[in-house]
Amino acid sequence: MAHICTDAGHGGPDSGAVWQSIQEKDLNLIYCGQLNAELKARGHHVLTTRLGDDDAPPLGIRCKLVNAHHRLQRPAFDCIVSLHCNVAAKVDPANGGYRALPQVRGFYAIYSQESPQSTALARSIAQKVEEAGVILKHGGMLSTVELGRTLAWIHKTLPPAVLLEMGFMTNPEELALLQNSDYQRKLIGAIADGLETFLSKQSTPQEVHHG
Ligand SMILES: [Zn+2]
Repeated sequence: MAHICTDAGHGGPDSGAVWQSIQEKDLNLIYCGQLNAELKARGHHVLTTRLGDDDAPPLGIRCKLVNAHHRLQRPAFDCIVSLHCNVAAKVDPANGGYRALPQVRGFYAIYSQESPQSTALARSIAQKVEEAGVILKHGGMLSTVELGRTLAWIHKTLPPAVLLEMGFMTNPEELALLQNSDYQRKLIGAIADGLETFLSKQSTPQEVHHG
């Protein structure tokens, strides 16, 4: 059994991306609830940063709570995962703002290349998601160096961490898939498989006894 912390990205006054009146925070919460249920069904201990849309702590507080639990070993997390949906748009002053790029789509896991564990976690998840037939972007994984900025969920937390960009709301087909219950089940199953592959490869010498 592993100790895993999950995070439905954004929440409360922070809607995340918005596209065609769909708010990212709501999609993230649906996926996170399903991931929590799946991981618990597989026998893992799951803590999550928000169960609903009210009372969602800001990101900085979430990171502090994760670290407090981790440091005090109640429990120390084997890994932490934040779930997000994406939009692709281009600055377009002629249109008074932004223009969506509907051709951009695909799943990828963002990780810190300074952390071998974060890198391994992203790789495991990307592999299982690809095996499930989900279209990937960036080969399924993107370091924060490639992204060009640091992310609090990844850089201000202690356990191995990934942030999953599950798909683009601005791609019509992917938006429909993101809301489809069969697709949700498939993607969640693949993410859980990737987490378990990562966890199975972690050495826990204090728990190994022979003879
Ligand atoms: Zn987001």
